[in-house]
Amino acid sequence: MKTEKKVLTAPTELASCSGCQACRLLCPSKAIQMEADKEGFLVPRIDQKLCTQCGLCEARCPQNKKPAFRDNDCVKAYGARLKDEAVLGKSASGGVFAGIARRFLETPGSAVFGCAFDSDLVARQSIASDLAGIEPMQGSKYVQSDTGDSFAQTKKLLESGNPVLYSGTPCQVAGLYAYLGKDYEKLATIDLICHGTPSPLLFKRYLKWLGNKHGGKIISYDFRSKDKVGWGSGYQPKLETATKTVYFRTELDPYFIGFNSASTMRECCYTCRHTSVKRVADLTIADFWGVEREHPEKFDRRGVSAVLANTEKGAALFARLASDFESFETDVSIVAKGNFHLSKPNERPGSRNTVYSNISSQDFAIVKDLCSSVPPLKRMVFGILSVMPSGMAKNLRKLKKLAKVMLGRA
Ligand SMILES: Cc1cc2nc3c(=O)[nH]c(=O)nc-3n(C[C@H](O)[C@H](O)[C@H](O)COP(=O)(O)OP(=O)(O)OC[C@H]3O[C@@H](n4cnc5c(N)ncnc54)[C@H](O)[C@@H]3O)c2cc1C
Repeated sequence: MKTEKKVLTAPTELASCSGCQACRLLCPSKAIQMEADKEGFLVPRIDQKLCTQCGLCEARCPQNKKPAFRDNDCVKAYGARLKDEAVLGKSASGGVFAGIARRFLETPGSAVFGCAFDSDLVARQSIASDLAGIEPMQGSKYVQSDTGDSFAQTKKLLESGNPVLYSGTPCQVAGLYAYLGKDYEKLATIDLICHGTPSPLLFKRYLKWLGNKHGGKIISYDFRSKDKVGWGSGYQPKLETATKTVYFRTELDPYFIGFNSASTMRECCYTCRHTSVKRVADLTIADFWGVEREHPEKFDRRGVSAVLANTEKGAALFARLASDFESFETDVSIVAKGNFHLSKPNERPGSRNTVYSNISSQDFAIVKDLCSSVPPLKRMVFGILSVMPSGMAKNLRKLKKLAKVMLGRA
């Protein structure tokens, strides 16, 4: 009896697709292209005229099957802060990525991949072969980055014997290994404890809205500037137009409201298989949330990262650079206590059903919808705090605490 051959329309269920692009790069008939879906996330589309139904994309998709050789238990856990303060100041937490990346580039022929904004503030997995290329990769960009051809570039370099450090979200690192199909001695990988990623289109629309609000195109945007508040007391975004620099609060900011409530994440983030202590990368980096409770003497306003060495390669890499950091040993269970995204994904809130429905409207309705989801009392309290001079606002921490009690969030 003849069995019907299944016709592949996509390498995986689109709700579980992370958009890593391994399938596009693997396809021997170049039948897969990435397109933005209606929410603005990249998804693969198979051209049936070119597809030979070989099944390679489905078989290698990391969302169908985790690359078997990458399911590592943490070998050692650390807290760390880079000693070089100039570099540390530009990093989101303890500067671990930059500290490692800068040293990695000392080996001739080596390359580092990480997320940087292009000139239009689109987040892309980019390559650096010198120190100047590392700086734009520093700092967290809370939006999904485009992996482009970075996996193919990585393979080419590795096949030519060049050392590569690849840093990205766990699903991107899993995508890289799925594409490579094996590990390489000269490849080292870093992933993040990840809250999830909103869509590039949402971020683009938000920047346009911010530009209108501040009277000029946004030419630079930092999700978490340390300039004024340091590390450990919430995030302070910073934007620049051609004529001004603005620091602002997150409580009334629509993008952060969506991000913090986890209502703007990619669908696959809510079932993320990488939110686990079993890690895909050699090293995992994160904010060391809770360090003030667990290791009070190590709390530092300049930033403290948690570092999980998940393989012997990762442990050796970090140990070799230990003198560049103020570092201390801790335990993965302690890191997990302050950072639940290490062991479970965000729950999908009801608001996720409708949050993207207005994304295509021309009047920034999505941004207004996100703003109006803040309760009026909270809007009032944080509205007052945001117009106060910073010194005065600092002294009003007690008031803020009281406000939180009133809002039932203490
Ligand atoms: C989307 C996202 C969600 C995160 N969620 C959490 C969380 O829930 N808990 C937590 O403790 N930490 C989280 N982090 C990690 C945290 O923000 C810091 O990146 C981490 O503490 C490392 O800081 P650092 O000072 O060592 O490095 P930094 O100098 O800040 O290095 C930044 C590193 O992050 C990478 N990166 C930045 N943006 C992106 C992006 N959009 N996509 C892929 N890679 C990116 C860069 O390539 C670089 O390797 C998240 C980061 C991102 C990007």
